[in-house]
Amino acid sequence: MTVQARMQNLEPSDAHDVASPSVLGATLSSADGERAWIQAVAFTRDRSPASFDQWFSGVQFDGFTDGVLSLRARDEFVRQWIENYYLPTLSEWLRAHTGLSIQPRWTIDVALDRPVADRPSYPPVRPRTISVRPFPPDEPSGVREAVSVTASTAPPPPPVPRIHSAPAPMEALNPKSTFGNFVVGPSNQLAHAASMAAAGGGGRRHNPLFICGGTGLGKTHLVHAIAHSVRDVRPDARIVYISAERFVNEFVQALQDQKMNDFRARYRERCDVLLVDDIHSLAGKTQTQEEFFHAFNALHQSGKQIVVTSDKYPQQLDKMEERLVSRFQWGLVADIQAPELETRVAIIRKKAQLEHIELEGDVCLHIAQTVRSNVRELEGTLIRLAAKASLLGKPIDMAFTRLEIAASGSGRPNEASVEDIQRMVCHHFKLRSIDLVSKDRHKSIAFARHVAMYLCKQRLKCSFPELGRAFGNRDHTTVISAVRKVESLRSSDPEVRAHLEALERKLGSIE
Ligand code: ADP
Ligand code: MG
Repeated sequence: MTVQARMQNLEPSDAHDVASPSVLGATLSSADGERAWIQAVAFTRDRSPASFDQWFSGVQFDGFTDGVLSLRARDEFVRQWIENYYLPTLSEWLRAHTGLSIQPRWTIDVALDRPVADRPSYPPVRPRTISVRPFPPDEPSGVREAVSVTASTAPPPPPVPRIHSAPAPMEALNPKSTFGNFVVGPSNQLAHAASMAAAGGGGRRHNPLFICGGTGLGKTHLVHAIAHSVRDVRPDARIVYISAERFVNEFVQALQDQKMNDFRARYRERCDVLLVDDIHSLAGKTQTQEEFFHAFNALHQSGKQIVVTSDKYPQQLDKMEERLVSRFQWGLVADIQAPELETRVAIIRKKAQLEHIELEGDVCLHIAQTVRSNVRELEGTLIRLAAKASLLGKPIDMAFTRLEIAASGSGRPNEASVEDIQRMVCHHFKLRSIDLVSKDRHKSIAFARHVAMYLCKQRLKCSFPELGRAFGNRDHTTVISAVRKVESLRSSDPEVRAHLEALERKLGSIE
């Protein structure tokens, strides 16, 4: 039988007959290649539907001819993960059914237009035994032995939980806050990549991972995504996701009820991954900080992943014990900045697609241009528009959107904070926000720091000592001289003036 004839007959019923390579020809038309790919994907998907969708939402199939399998990945992490844990199965299936040896050819493309996971459904594949590597893995790295597994059309049996004492209760996870639904752009790239690595998705794992950024920029989304991903990949891992506020409440309750032993065991022993949201709310709570410090040490020493989010950099955390601040900097501090226009457009598109909201023409762009503060507000605007349009039975077109946004005032520039200005200045000068609060006196960093101090002084009602503290605990006289220096450069140096005007435009003070 020729490859063509074979592929035309490649219905689920015979999809698992492993053809002998000698029977098959050496080439495959692109249509047959695509059919073979669809079958291979169906087989692979059946083995792990939940994680399949998550990972394959970041992969696009570009063609399969003459053994060359062309794939596109949203980023390097996705490529590596697929390569390590899915490609062996896919390639084995394709090799067995076409007789061709499989050569993957990858392209990295942040904007996939046909992700594999977007296909509505895959034909079921009958059971067959095939020798493949197990996936998803228990650990991100290490040599894995080939094992024999049986794939089946029936849903895979639920994972058998490891017998152990109950972990700490987990706060509810938003099912939509997955990596697949997170739009990656320059403003959140590092935090996203580090979160994927923390979840075991490849790349260097940092412990702890400290994610910081302004409100509504996706910190909680990333932490939920880590929890989903770990749960998916290592169902028996004991994940504790808790807000710092709830940690405080539980601690106080445990003290009152004299159940400290249980509380301690929950956070120090019965936990494989600790995710603590909004750590800044431990400010001033010295006893809880002490307790958290010991939990941190115990988990860190046993190599358990810790991820913490905060609205400030560790050095800027108020009323936080120095030893905790220093531990937060042991691993990686990854910041998230306000998304730039292209990312805002992509986020609106993604949300509209998730919520089945139809937007006409340039509406996406208009919303993204008008609502610039944070993602939560972008989302809120979209949901409000959709709700009102559906109540009035109107389409979400440009006229409707303009009117609604103007009426709701979502487009009005928000009151910026010191952190917003710092983030914006760093973005403008392509620095890391941490540089502004560091001791680094390199000329370009010092200049950006002075500009940021100047803008803060101009726009916010902060005193010089307050600003000194917000810029890495500097003396107020340093801030005074920085502000004076920028003032005088503004009138004498056109380049400095251009930088300031660009920044002020971004801060919404000119339009
Ligand atoms: P934070 O914890 O930083 O205050 P959240 O994680 O709660 O912010 O994010 C606010 C909202 O914006 C959530 O609904 C989240 O899903 C969404 N969001 C934030 N960043 C992104 C992103 N990059 N892609 C998609 N949605 C995002
Ligand atoms: Mg949050």
